[in-house]
Amino acid sequence: MPLIPLVQCLEEAEKGGYGVGAFNVNNMEQLQGIMKAAREMNSPVIVQASRGALRYTNFVYLKHLVQAAVEDNPDIPVVLHLDHGDSLDTVKTAIDLGFTSVMIDGSHLPFEENVALTKEVVDYAHRFGVSVEAELGTLGGIEEDIAGEVQLTDPDQAEEFVKRTGCDALAVAIGTSHGAYKFKAEPKLEIDLVQEIYDRVKIPLVLHGASSVPPELAERINKYGGNIVGSFGVPIPSIQQAIARGVRKINVDTDTRMAMTGAVRQHLAEKPDTIDPREFMGAAREAVYEVVKSRMEAFGSAGHAGDYKPLTLADMIERYNR
Ligand SMILES: [Zn+2]
Repeated sequence: MPLIPLVQCLEEAEKGGYGVGAFNVNNMEQLQGIMKAAREMNSPVIVQASRGALRYTNFVYLKHLVQAAVEDNPDIPVVLHLDHGDSLDTVKTAIDLGFTSVMIDGSHLPFEENVALTKEVVDYAHRFGVSVEAELGTLGGIEEDIAGEVQLTDPDQAEEFVKRTGCDALAVAIGTSHGAYKFKAEPKLEIDLVQEIYDRVKIPLVLHGASSVPPELAERINKYGGNIVGSFGVPIPSIQQAIARGVRKINVDTDTRMAMTGAVRQHLAEKPDTIDPREFMGAAREAVYEVVKSRMEAFGSAGHAGDYKPLTLADMIERYNR
């Protein structure tokens, strides 16, 4: 099936009571690892690219990599999503490239400016049937050069924000954090806040900074010369509690990065005579597959690929115009 809009994916997830992992991509092996997991788990999947990824892949490569993934996996529903779009211009570029969903991140702006920017993007994207994720509240950690104070999402503001912007999904700050160095100890998510926000906005919620940073991934990196110390991620059971209360999209980037890094380090350390990138990149691909597979099981999306009827952006345009 062709790429599907995020709205469809999150509505199906709502019906099925599961969450869908949104995995960042920057290169072929990473994407192949993700798609192998989706195929074996028979799971829908959200593939997302940040501005940094688009710069790295030179835009057109990413577009065609994802097209290849879709062509190679005709039975898997795939959303192509822009992660952390910063302006209408970036959103336009993504839509031109064929993205079926975009995020506009105005969370660092004052409330009224966030509303205005998000509304502008929603009005534009919906003309093309493209879904829009917005963000209210700020996470800790660093992503796309944005670092800021933690500010949990306020349910009253969230309700007003969603009403005024018409966004399709809302990223919320409930105690998660971006990057590999999330927390100095195991974090506690504000699970009740998820429920409160969801009851008010009644649209699917998104969890950013939700990698779990499993100790075994850090240990593998460190065993072969790396230095990742004192890092804790978001425990899987906490994410599952959030899913039970309305979170439908869970962003995972750090975990696949760590998996690739550990696999490459181990391979090169154990086979110092290797000069064939296929060997260590192949190992990295396998490591991505393992992580993504376990997330699809944990989030509950495994087994649900067959639930999806083809829904095109044209169908969505009609729906938005109703
Ligand atoms: Zn994020």
